[in-house]
Amino acid sequence: MAATPVMQLPVISECSAEGCAYNHEHTCHAVAITVGDTDAPVCDTFVSADTDGGEPSVTGRVGACKMADCRHNSGLECHAPAISVGYEQEQVDCLTYARA
Ligand code: SF4
Repeated sequence: MAATPVMQLPVISECSAEGCAYNHEHTCHAVAITVGDTDAPVCDTFVSADTDGGEPSVTGRVGACKMADCRHNSGLECHAPAISVGYEQEQVDCLTYARA
């Protein structure tokens, strides 16, 4: 029986939020992040903690995104090939977010 193709989760090509426990040298190591709250494309996985978070061998990917109005979003999943994350004013946002 043929295997069902599995959607490749979008990779986080860069994240400038060095204050996040999952961040090491501008690379996110969370296995899968969640993006979005009710009205802004924030990185909902950001955490400021003393513990090193994530899996060092892994580059983070987008597990889920709540920004239904983004042009890359379908069914609350991100379909961009890659995203970047960084500060927008005081908040850490998906910088690839683009209103449809
Ligand atoms: S590009 Fe759009 S759909 Fe993908 S994570 Fe960013 S806000 Fe969500």
